[in-house]
Amino acid sequence: QFRRATRLDGIELSEIVQITERAAELRVQGVDVIALSTGEPDFPTPPHVVDAAHRAAREGATRYTATAGTPALRAAVAEGAGVTPDQVVISTGAKQVLANAMLATVDPGDEVIMCAPFWTSYADIVRLAGGVPVLLSAGPEQGFKVTPQQLSGAITGRTRWVMFNSPSNPSGAIYSRDELQGLARVLSRHPHVWVLADEIYEHLAYVPFTRFVAAAPELADRTLTVNGVSKAYSMTGWRLGWGIGPKPLIAAMTAVQGQVTSGASSISQAAALAALTGPQDLLAERRDAMQSRRDLVVSELHRAGMECLTPEGAFYVFPRCHDAMPDDPAFCRHLLDTEGVAVVPGRAFGMEGHFRLSFAYGTDMLQAGLARIARAVAAL
Ligand code: PLP
Repeated sequence: QFRRATRLDGIELSEIVQITERAAELRVQGVDVIALSTGEPDFPTPPHVVDAAHRAAREGATRYTATAGTPALRAAVAEGAGVTPDQVVISTGAKQVLANAMLATVDPGDEVIMCAPFWTSYADIVRLAGGVPVLLSAGPEQGFKVTPQQLSGAITGRTRWVMFNSPSNPSGAIYSRDELQGLARVLSRHPHVWVLADEIYEHLAYVPFTRFVAAAPELADRTLTVNGVSKAYSMTGWRLGWGIGPKPLIAAMTAVQGQVTSGASSISQAAALAALTGPQDLLAERRDAMQSRRDLVVSELHRAGMECLTPEGAFYVFPRCHDAMPDDPAFCRHLLDTEGVAVVPGRAFGMEGHFRLSFAYGTDMLQAGLARIARAVAAL
């Protein structure tokens, strides 16, 4: 008889997957579904990146690479971050960087602080590694950002990490340099706590963006920066991300990776190198396109009587559900069943009473989806 390992206890099928599956079911029944639920840009991978991948495959870059990544890609990432290549590990997406970090450092019962709303996978990755997620709640009244006081109150002797995600999925919040420095001042009093700064949406910022290590260089010897090509270069399917941090941590993460995947795909690494070293104008073009979509979405939601903050980065809005139906799974179900619009309930991100709408779609689809949301809300 099949038995799951206890380390999977409490780890459920992600809410995002559930809603996506329900949307697919409705489509099969012939319902015209508009899914504003997924977290990937609709732009194509840039052609010069695809060409570089073809070339790499043809020229024989088809073997195992070094576990921590090809020397060329590690050097390119290191150069962009002003560190040495041995402070960089290349992995199968930013997600694997997070998993490697937790598996390499978290012992049973260790605590990892995260700020709700947070990206769904944070808590489950920590649990999978045997750790205990400690949730700090930061609602719209505080701009979806935790305060130094909150952080200070949550740190215990068992705290191993605090995870920050700026720009944030799902709220779009960006911590300013001052705000990061306020948090860093608390952390400087607790030398046993490490910082994980997930900056995967760095290039999708509509206000000035500061990297955590730039705001708090004094904490660099216990900060892991997570980034990758998925969101900036529309390369979600290539599965390529990286971690930048102190050498002993990078070595431990590489040891985990050596037993789990042996490293990222050789072809994807060649493609990522082309993305990082090729023309960069597309970053600003794509960011500007996302910003216009954001403006459209926020104004249409407001017109429909929904409350939402204007996101400062990434490509998600995180509105409050309508007062007439404040329960988020019920509200999302209502949108899907009455108008065929798929969005994700806030509880998937550790914050009830909200929902996440992705605006990484063309404006026609966004306009149609928002008109449907307005109708569904008016019918409540
Ligand atoms: N971090 C955050 C905040 C994300 O939203 C995502 C993807 O949705 C990731 C990490 C994972 O990115 P990747 O595709 O590189 O694994």
